[in-house]
Amino acid sequence: GIYVQIRNITFKERKKLKNHFVLGFVPFGGCFEEFIEPFISEMKILEKGKIMNIQGRTCLVIASLGDITADLPQGNDLVGVKRHGANKVCRTCNTAKDSLTLNDLDLPSVSRYHHQTDKQFEEIFAASTITERKKIATQYGLRLQPTILDQLRWERHLQSPHDIYHVTAGKVLRFLKITIDALSPEGKVEFISFWKSFEYPRRWQKLPNPISHIDSFMMSDCLRLAMMLPFILNRFLKTKHFKQSELDKLRVRTGVSRNNLAVKLWLRCWILMAKTMAIAFKHSFTEKDYIELQEYFENLPNLHVNYHLVQHARNYATLLNTSVETKEMVHKIFKNSVLRTNRKNIDLDLLKRYNTLFAMRYLFDGGIDS
Ligand SMILES: [Zn+2]
Repeated sequence: GIYVQIRNITFKERKKLKNHFVLGFVPFGGCFEEFIEPFISEMKILEKGKIMNIQGRTCLVIASLGDITADLPQGNDLVGVKRHGANKVCRTCNTAKDSLTLNDLDLPSVSRYHHQTDKQFEEIFAASTITERKKIATQYGLRLQPTILDQLRWERHLQSPHDIYHVTAGKVLRFLKITIDALSPEGKVEFISFWKSFEYPRRWQKLPNPISHIDSFMMSDCLRLAMMLPFILNRFLKTKHFKQSELDKLRVRTGVSRNNLAVKLWLRCWILMAKTMAIAFKHSFTEKDYIELQEYFENLPNLHVNYHLVQHARNYATLLNTSVETKEMVHKIFKNSVLRTNRKNIDLDLLKRYNTLFAMRYLFDGGIDS
């Protein structure tokens, strides 16, 4: 599904389901460029400005692309950067694959810059043979051609931030799996018993069992559990709850000498995770918050995207401003209604439902047909 949001409305309005507009659905295996072409042509007109009659008043309407958010492989496609198989896989910087998590990355000097990428695309285009083109493209970690979005006015590397929900929930899920795998059978039993008896906020739906149902965890489940996990672990976690082999591994990797210190370190990591989340999802940032966010990220297990999140936060004021959690909800509504169609022409059926829904909302909001 492809959704559009209008940016010059308040954050509160922007988060409403009704302010997520569906452009349409690209069928599995369908061509995105072909699908998006009409939208791009209209955006080109809007970039120049178009005179429209809005509620009886003549207005000049100007619009352009604010930012795009997509899952990792598709996000790279939209920017024109190769997917994860390549040597340079980051859509924001030029760091080679094997040094993505080095501690002393100097971001300004390794960043990708729009004008440089333009030149690199020109270089690829100018090469005389296809082999040569592929070679240069690989060297820069770019696709053979710029994407269709490049026909619009945008800064491809700055206007393609990573989504904080996906990034954080993905990290939590990974760490949760690692933690559970590292527990001994006794540790697992204890974990589940403390997890069950924990006093969760009343309003929360019951979380799925993190050991037996980890694969059906949704993003929101991950984030909720991550908030509580430091408290749950703190209530019982001892050396005996871990597999000895896992503690040995951790001690070797961190240089910690004693088992109980290794367990503390594990717990500390979950605490950091929870604290980082608290800052990352803030509705507004002070200068101190940006600095704190950076410090937390530096202390968390190194993941390349951490480096860029602080920059995204500064570019867009907060990370929530470019997050897509409401879009995920809208998407879920559509996904659920797929089950109620005969699946012959899914996008038409979905769009019909969407139109009806929209018309009803319009009427409920007091709109009239002129
Ligand atoms: Zn990067």
